[in-house]
Amino acid sequence: MNNYTPVIGLEVHVELKTKSKMFCSCSSDYFGKKPNTHTCPVCLGLPGALPVPNKKAIQWCIMIGLSLNCNIPLLSKFDRKNYFYPDLPKGYQISQYDMPFCINGKIELSNGKKIGIRRVHMEEDTGKLIHETIEGEKVSLIDFNRSGVPLVEIVTEPDFESTEDVKEYLQKLQQIVRYLKVSDANMEKGDMRLEPNISLRSNNTNTTNTNNKPISNKELPKYKVEVKNINSFKFVEKAINFEIERQSEILKNGQTPKQETRGFVEKSGSTVSQRSKEEASDYRYFPEPDIPPLRWTKNYIEGLKLEMPELPDKKLKRFKSEYGLSEYDSIILSREKNLAEYFESAVNDGKNQGVSPKQIANHIINKKTDIDSYLPSELVRSIIKSSKKVDVDEKKLDEIINKVLSENKKAVLDYKKGKKTAIMYLLGQVMREFSEKIDAQKVKILITNKVNSYEQN
Ligand code: ADP
Ligand code: MG
Ligand code: ZN
Repeated sequence: MNNYTPVIGLEVHVELKTKSKMFCSCSSDYFGKKPNTHTCPVCLGLPGALPVPNKKAIQWCIMIGLSLNCNIPLLSKFDRKNYFYPDLPKGYQISQYDMPFCINGKIELSNGKKIGIRRVHMEEDTGKLIHETIEGEKVSLIDFNRSGVPLVEIVTEPDFESTEDVKEYLQKLQQIVRYLKVSDANMEKGDMRLEPNISLRSNNTNTTNTNNKPISNKELPKYKVEVKNINSFKFVEKAINFEIERQSEILKNGQTPKQETRGFVEKSGSTVSQRSKEEASDYRYFPEPDIPPLRWTKNYIEGLKLEMPELPDKKLKRFKSEYGLSEYDSIILSREKNLAEYFESAVNDGKNQGVSPKQIANHIINKKTDIDSYLPSELVRSIIKSSKKVDVDEKKLDEIINKVLSENKKAVLDYKKGKKTAIMYLLGQVMREFSEKIDAQKVKILITNKVNSYEQN
């Protein structure tokens, strides 16, 4: 396996959660709804029906692009991508070809690697085929509720070399669209669909190792294999690993894998050939005649930036610098926007009451605070309460420890034989003797010291 380096690029589709569809006023909240109840002449592709672009969807698409550090060209347009399939009643999908809303972005992974974002464009979803058996007969039914739901496609450069990096990228992307509140990015519901493109570069032929160059600047393998419509991070990993194995076998035999589109089979964790890869020319792309080109001003784009929330990476850094939290705590607390906001609200509340951000972070993380049932102020109050430990009479404590140790000789012996957990038992026995709340950490140290000192006697 060391003879080849994987070359991987990703195409990810994200369904937006706008109220209405991309080019009509039908509700786009179709999931689990009765088939064909969210339709109209536009999304059914009836002749003569005219599309009207959804402004919110376009703004959200651009916000996704901005979050991925893309350039936003001030002139853009929609195009028709022509192909035939029963779930596409118009015979074409409105998409973007050569003038997408967002281009040339990048995203940085935690290991410092930068992944190029080639483009982020806007398109519409298709209907859904349902294969069933009715009265013993195999039939295919079509539900058009999903037809025309806004879809954003995010295409990376072939900059990935490992499944770990692919996974981190996908998690980051999911986190970003959730922060922006433009998609739930729920994999099971199909809000986010993944298509990895995979090829292998021979390590031997690439002896001129241009280390620091992005992979996309190196010569790419002459073929690539696209695996379609995967709906979980786990499966994307499986599909990639399967392809790496399969392709390296072919290459080892001196052949080149076929350029094709393959489908992932969940049961076996393998991929199977679906069709030889189509070329852009097969789609006969041309400008959508029913929608004029779109122009933005710089001011408009700047305005969109101002509407965007602080994004996860920035928040993480700020949690470290502003509150002195560890990397670990900052990662957990910035993972979801709701949790991050809860934390900061509690910090604000605790400021004048002597409760530190670190205490709040500890409490939320270690006690797994249910943020839906406690207000931040309630959390702060309970921290204050639990940290008010009663000062115990030292003499009484010493007596009780002595008593417990003499009554539990076996546990003391166990501890000395190396069973470290015996201390916890002894601690429990001591704590039981007190009705008030005492500092368990301190008591534990006292017990440990005492038991250890026995050894010298
Ligand atoms: P197509 O026009 O066939 O869709 P593109 O060149 O637009 O192909 O690339 C689609 C995806 O495939 C992108 O994510 C890109 O990074 C990736 N890709 C391109 N070349 C390769 C390659 N040799 N190996 C793996 N992925 C590749
Ligand atoms: Mg493609
Ligand atoms: Zn409609």
